[in-house]
Order: sequence, then structure tokens, then C-alpha cells
Amino acid sequence: MGKVSTLVSSTFIVLGLVVNGIHSWNYEDEDTKGVFRWGDQYPECDGLNQSPIDIETARVQVNRDLTVEIGGLDETHETWIRNNGHTAQLGLLDSPKPNLTGTAVNGKLYEFAQLHFHWGEKSDRGSEHSVDSVFYPAEMHMVFYRKQYGDIETAVKYKDGLAVVGVFLQNSKTNNPNYDPLIYAVRQAPDYKAKSFLPSEITLRQLLPRNTQKFYRYSGSLTTPPCDEIVTWILLADPVEIGEQQLEVFRHERTNYVSMRSGSNRIDHNYRYQAPINRRIVESSFNPRISFSTPLNARAIKPFYKNVFFPSY
Ligand SMILES: [Zn+2]
Repeated sequence: MGKVSTLVSSTFIVLGLVVNGIHSWNYEDEDTKGVFRWGDQYPECDGLNQSPIDIETARVQVNRDLTVEIGGLDETHETWIRNNGHTAQLGLLDSPKPNLTGTAVNGKLYEFAQLHFHWGEKSDRGSEHSVDSVFYPAEMHMVFYRKQYGDIETAVKYKDGLAVVGVFLQNSKTNNPNYDPLIYAVRQAPDYKAKSFLPSEITLRQLLPRNTQKFYRYSGSLTTPPCDEIVTWILLADPVEIGEQQLEVFRHERTNYVSMRSGSNRIDHNYRYQAPINRRIVESSFNPRISFSTPLNARAIKPFYKNVFFPSY
């Protein structure tokens, strides 16, 4: 159990939650600790290689040699969900954990640490990344740390410390049964610091789209404080469909601050504003200019940058 508690505490540090309360942050637009002011406490949040970004497919460089291999996707795991005040985060109890390698991470070996979700008040916005300014209702982040660093806490001190697989969630009228155990656990842990076990074991594969070989890759950062620029982002092109009712369950998670927008302490939105791409290049394992389908319920809106007023969304 000692190993488990180490993982839990280090995962919190990665998400920037310092338990003693000296630092805190939130997703409010107009708050001194809000999303536009993270850089005040965490200077790296104002860096030049931040995430998330908009993927502009016309400027993506196709690289057919890019591969991602995720091992252990079909292993079943006893799994828990924890509300950490910013998101619903999933952890695996048992080892070995899934791992990730491939040319997309220069052949280095990464080990699974946790996964979590970002969502919005309504399904027209919620993902952190977008493709040609089209957002999805939610986005899942599977966080892997470089295994040779031993643990995630050490890994975040290195430029190649993390690889994060980003998965867009598209809403549909029917629920996705693969997500039922996870959604059940989220529903059981609505309060800040609450933890709940999934009623049945799951595999990571059941949370992913069928095709994991079509993806975008770029270098970026954690999308939460302290915003370390240590992440190889692997954004899967194909979304996973989950039910609108399932999405709604995330929006009832509670945070440790009162939301100014909704006047409640629900985590009704937990996506960061997008960062400019600056000098970075996004590569893709496929040609995104050949087949691109716009999700039914998403609408194209311009990405919004820090200090730029962004009207109604
Ligand atoms: Zn995330």
C-alpha cells in the first residue's frame, strides 16, 4: 500500500494542488487565482511552449514514421476515481501498469500514472485542444511518466518527463457501456477529496477509440499549474463517443472553490484557455487533410488567448 500512497501524493503535485493551501488556482476568468492569472504564482504558465493549442491541420507536418505503442491495454485493473478539486482522476491499484513507447516518444519507455478529464458547462465546449478551431465536449488525458526516472515526481523535473495521450470525447444520444463503470464511480465521488472504486475491473482499451494510430504530436506543457513544459502530447484524431447523460455526471463534480460563473461549487468547466503555438511544429502520423469530419454537435469557434476578451461561449 505504501507504493499506492506515494503514487497518489505525487500525482497531486503534478496537478499543482498543494495541500497546505499556500498555492491554489482555479478556472475562473476573473479571479486573482483564476485561469488568466496562473502565471502570477506559477511563472512557467506564461511560457512560450504551453498547452493546450489549436491544431491547424493546414500547417501540420505529416510524418508517416510516427508510431505509438501502448502496452497492457487489455489487462484488467482494479481502479478508483478521486475528485481532486479540479477533475475526476482515475488511478490503477495493481501493477504492472500499462506502458507507452514508439517513435513518437523517440523510443523511450513511459509508464502509466493516471488519467483524468476536462469538460465544459455545455457540450459545445469542453475539450482543451481543438482541431481547426473545432472543440469537443470533453477531453481525456492519459498521463505517462518516463520510467527510468522512477516516479512521476522525479520525472516532471525533466524535459522528456511526461507523455500524455489526449482523447477527444464526442457526445451522443446513447450511453457508451464501456464507460459505465467509470461514470458510476464519478457519480459516487462528487465531493472534493472523495474517492470511489469502480464497481468492476476495466481495461484502458475500453476507454479509447478503436484507432489509436492516427494522432498528432507536439511538445507542450501540463495544462494545469505549475504548467511545466515537459510533455510530449499525443492527441488521438478519432474521438470516443459517450452519452450526453454520462457527460452530465462530470459537470456535477464539486470543487473546493465557488464558481463565479455559476455561483456554485460545481466543476462546471475545467478547461484552460489555449496558448499560441509560437515556433512549434505539430506532426501527424496520418494526412489530416484527406479525411476530416466535423463532429455533429461541435461548433467552430476561435481559440482564445490570454488577455483577449472572448465573448459568450
Ligand atoms: Zn489534463
